[in-house]
Amino acid sequence: MLDALDSTVAQCLASSPNRSGAKHTHPGDQVNRIPMATRLLLIEWDDRRLLVDTGNGTKLSPKLQEIYAIDTAYPTLPHLLVEAGIPPESITDVVLTHLHFDHAGGATTLDGSIAVPTFPNARYYVQADQLAWARNPTEKDRASFMPENYEPLVEAGLLDLIEGSVHLTPELSLHPLFGHTQAMQALLLQSDDGTLFYPADLLPTHAHIPIPYVMGYDNYPLTTITEKKTWLERAAREEWIVIFEHDAFVAAGTIARTEKGFSLGKKLELSPVAPHAA
Ligand SMILES: [Zn+2]
Repeated sequence: MLDALDSTVAQCLASSPNRSGAKHTHPGDQVNRIPMATRLLLIEWDDRRLLVDTGNGTKLSPKLQEIYAIDTAYPTLPHLLVEAGIPPESITDVVLTHLHFDHAGGATTLDGSIAVPTFPNARYYVQADQLAWARNPTEKDRASFMPENYEPLVEAGLLDLIEGSVHLTPELSLHPLFGHTQAMQALLLQSDDGTLFYPADLLPTHAHIPIPYVMGYDNYPLTTITEKKTWLERAAREEWIVIFEHDAFVAAGTIARTEKGFSLGKKLELSPVAPHAA
């Protein structure tokens, strides 16, 4: 079973590569911010409940909340889960695609003034090289790493360090990517019903499907371009469902081949996390 959590709808800084990007993307507000979402996944099977990414969380300072225009009226992740009858304690696995605050912010929560794991009974997974990078970042993405989002997981012994491509189950696998940040991991869920791809910031919105449209935040844009070609090729050929984590308007879709490269195929909705029977 697969559900999507549309967590905090935030606005982030736009980074269209050129003016022609405006026809594909939101034009942006007076300080060049565009509406963005943090779209998380909940995958349930047997007695497992696996969450993919955790959104911005609730620890951002008022100043940062204002810079990113975080919609604080939107329910928090634990609140969304509780409303659906899913206690945070029942989450068994949390895949962190990477440790930028808009993906790992909800991994910990303040208990008084101390950040503690939001999902105390879960194993959290991140690539070892991503943790090493977060602890010793470049100027490029230094501001996106906040130790309070992941060091409490290390201290609690809940963070499993992944090296390279791995299968968590026969259907579920994680794959490192190196263009956005060092060793971000994408998730692939392959079953008889089809394949679902959660590429995180490789394809943050559907506007990033055309090959040259990469984020200004990327550490290595040319690496992102190479990775996009590889993964979009497979996604188009095998008719995968691709989830756009930061797209405020298009939750998911298939990838179509065009003369010039790739574009959005079928636009798809995801079912929101529905109340569970007790
Ligand atoms: Zn992001």
